[in-house]
Amino acid sequence: MAGAMRGVDDRLSIARTVAWADVRSEWLIMKILSGAHRFDELAAEFNAQVPGDRGLRVATSLTAGLNFLRGQMFTRVHNDVERRFGCDSMLAPLSQSGSEAHVKSEIEVFQVAQGFACLREHQLLSGGAWFGDWLAKLRLAEGWDGSQVRRRLSLYGELDADERRLAFSNILERRLPEARLAPLVVYRLFPLAVDLCIVLALDDFLLANEIRHRQATILPILLDCHECHAKPLENGERCMSCGNPLWKFDWLNASD
Ligand SMILES: [Zn+2]
Repeated sequence: MAGAMRGVDDRLSIARTVAWADVRSEWLIMKILSGAHRFDELAAEFNAQVPGDRGLRVATSLTAGLNFLRGQMFTRVHNDVERRFGCDSMLAPLSQSGSEAHVKSEIEVFQVAQGFACLREHQLLSGGAWFGDWLAKLRLAEGWDGSQVRRRLSLYGELDADERRLAFSNILERRLPEARLAPLVVYRLFPLAVDLCIVLALDDFLLANEIRHRQATILPILLDCHECHAKPLENGERCMSCGNPLWKFDWLNASD
């Protein structure tokens, strides 16, 4: 009897698991489809503004590059610091000071603001005012028009490059106290890494080399990498040796 009951329980358990898997896969498919639909809409919006039918390629390249950069920036100011200095009891743990998702959202908002500033500085796509909203929709999805994000973007938009960088480091350090222990040079290299990502997505390789030169002026040692020779890499790629496009902790520390 007990065996028969276990058999029923087992079948119920399997049925629940399969049903949950169906719900999850359906939810996942819906999510992927809605994401793909949004991506297509944004590509069409880009093509309506810029001749050349490059919308999908630009959106894909920016997504690969900015996803990667956001993750690397988080690693530099959190994981690398913990690895180097340990979990100091004076520093609030990540769960208290701000979740990883919150910190990455802050990095993302900065990337959007910096990306638009890059477009204006270099008069790319004729400095199109639409690009700010377009990039925000691409990167911040449904959260892009939330009032807090709008306020943050508006604040960054009023600042010059140095002020924007400083505001970003202050915001990040408020959320993540250990970010104070990251090499300061990372805050100077990161905005230019975002710029590089934007110009690579727009196939402006001349400007990409110029931006890399500006980074090398800030951190000359990056020219010493025998693997990548400090060349701009495709969006989403990285040099396993030095960390290009956002250099490893030891390379950043070589400047201090
Ligand atoms: Zn390298």
